[in-house]
Amino acid sequence: MLRVTAAARQSWRGFRTFPRSSVEVKNEPILSFLEGSEERRDLQEALDGLKGQTEEIPCVVGDEHIWTKDVRFQLSPFNHSHKVAKFCYADTELINKAILASVAARKEWDLTPVQDRAQVLFRAADLLSGPRRAEVLAKTMIGQGKTVVQAEIDAAAELIDFFRFNAKYAVELEAQQPLDADGSTNTMLYRGLEGFVAAVSPFNFTAIGGNLAGTPALMGNVVLWKPSDAAVSSSYVVYRVLRDAGLPPHVIQFLPADGPTFGDAVTASEHLAGLNFTGSYQTFKRLWKQVAQNVDAYRTFPRLAGECGGKNFHFVHGSAHVASVVRGTLRSAFEFGGQKCSACSRMYVPDRLWPLIREQLLVAHGQLRVGDPVEDFSTFFSAVIDDKSFARIKKWLDHAKTSSTLKVVAGGNYDDSKGYYVEPTIIETSDPLDPIMSEEIFGPVLSVFVYPENEYKEVLQLIDKTSPYALTGAVFAQDRNVIAEAAKALRNAAGNYYVNDKSTGSVVAQQPFGGARASGTNDKPGGPHYILRWTSPQVVKETQQPLPDWRYPYMG
Ligand code: NAD
Repeated sequence: MLRVTAAARQSWRGFRTFPRSSVEVKNEPILSFLEGSEERRDLQEALDGLKGQTEEIPCVVGDEHIWTKDVRFQLSPFNHSHKVAKFCYADTELINKAILASVAARKEWDLTPVQDRAQVLFRAADLLSGPRRAEVLAKTMIGQGKTVVQAEIDAAAELIDFFRFNAKYAVELEAQQPLDADGSTNTMLYRGLEGFVAAVSPFNFTAIGGNLAGTPALMGNVVLWKPSDAAVSSSYVVYRVLRDAGLPPHVIQFLPADGPTFGDAVTASEHLAGLNFTGSYQTFKRLWKQVAQNVDAYRTFPRLAGECGGKNFHFVHGSAHVASVVRGTLRSAFEFGGQKCSACSRMYVPDRLWPLIREQLLVAHGQLRVGDPVEDFSTFFSAVIDDKSFARIKKWLDHAKTSSTLKVVAGGNYDDSKGYYVEPTIIETSDPLDPIMSEEIFGPVLSVFVYPENEYKEVLQLIDKTSPYALTGAVFAQDRNVIAEAAKALRNAAGNYYVNDKSTGSVVAQQPFGGARASGTNDKPGGPHYILRWTSPQVVKETQQPLPDWRYPYMG
């Protein structure tokens, strides 16, 4: 029997060191920003420094800062006379130039040991946790209209966690190796994808942009990052932090662009190896179709990851704890103006509990402050992101006011004279299939269907069938049998499912996030499996002894 020597085992594996099998990482603590605290002082200083300022943000390819003629502005949602950033759209020529420059840089980056790539993310996380925290928070607050706590859980905590946990997962992945056999060793090499990854990010989470671009880069890929027009300012901080942390030029190209121009250019390139998208279902479907149409052009099958919208539900059973329902629903439906993909926007309440729940919702509704999150820290949420969003939500509110089956119970008003303000709105519907119960609104609008208490089983079926989405959902019940029953009925209705908790607030490494059906490809960013989307492993078998004969012994 052949014996493999330790030296032989090293022949393939020797060019990289095997990592420690585990790396200690903890969730970033969420700071409280109480009056008088150090973090509040730093943040206030950063906010003061940005008052009335317009930052100039170029496209960046390698180390080159480029301005095209197509100049745009990012406006503050709660004060649209404040131009937060002046930037420009990359045109097709620039996008193609960035693709070629990335592809040329790919091999070297892909061969960089994972420990070194991970170090970039660990350092970036440390910068965001320390000296760059106030800057990224202030830009997220002013540019995307977030309150301090919403900015903190996004641009600080979640982004730092994405960087640290993914770096940890990437290092640990290297230790996952196939079995050796007598006389031969087997090695799995975790290569980046052959080509470039296009990262297209939404406006609503600074952390998501960092993750969409940062994680493929961590795994040895080169990335073209197109941030959302409404989040250019905070996205640019994240890009700069990565570069300051040691990310080499050309690994991530920073390219604000018109959506369709960018989508058309990247899907037309033979080098497209992956699309890492978060945004609406409609945009993702369009990109998927374009990839299908161009499939003959590609050198490799592109990986398509898309996290899309939701029509997230709160199901309330007769045994529910009413205060939890009310508090959780207020936060889930209205925080960040309902502009979280996981925000609760449809609720199902038994008729016996509705008077009490409605009364408590109305009392709290009267206390919610909607306003300028920078001037007034007691603001619960601020204006919605832009004029397009405002117009879309307005249509839904007008629909509610004119429909015979819908009744506005609270709110319903809007005003875009200074910022894109929409009141927190609660609507009661007698038609559970009205489009307001199935389509994503992405604003501070909660619709409620009141059902006969003893028909809850039918309501569980109804929740499952009403909407094409399946992102998040919550069940409020004290009765364990009902909890078990609901889990079965709603098994495919949500990728992130909560019991006696609101439908928002997933935390990296605790509740990896995403849903299926129209909500996307459910790749669970924030969990250990996500990084696997961005690697194309190679298996190397090395035999230490030459084959003694081509004939088999039984052949005589
Ligand atoms: P959006 O689809 O309008 O835009 C997302 C990104 O796509 C932007 O950068 C936009 O410029 C770009 N884009 C638009 N058209 C394009 C095209 N043809 N080709 C390439 N890129 C194009 O979405 P949004 O309004 O920024 O974000 C809100 C949506 O994102 C909601 O539907 C929300 O539910 C979803 N979302 C989902 C998750 C999740 O994890 N499931 C997280 C956040 C947001």
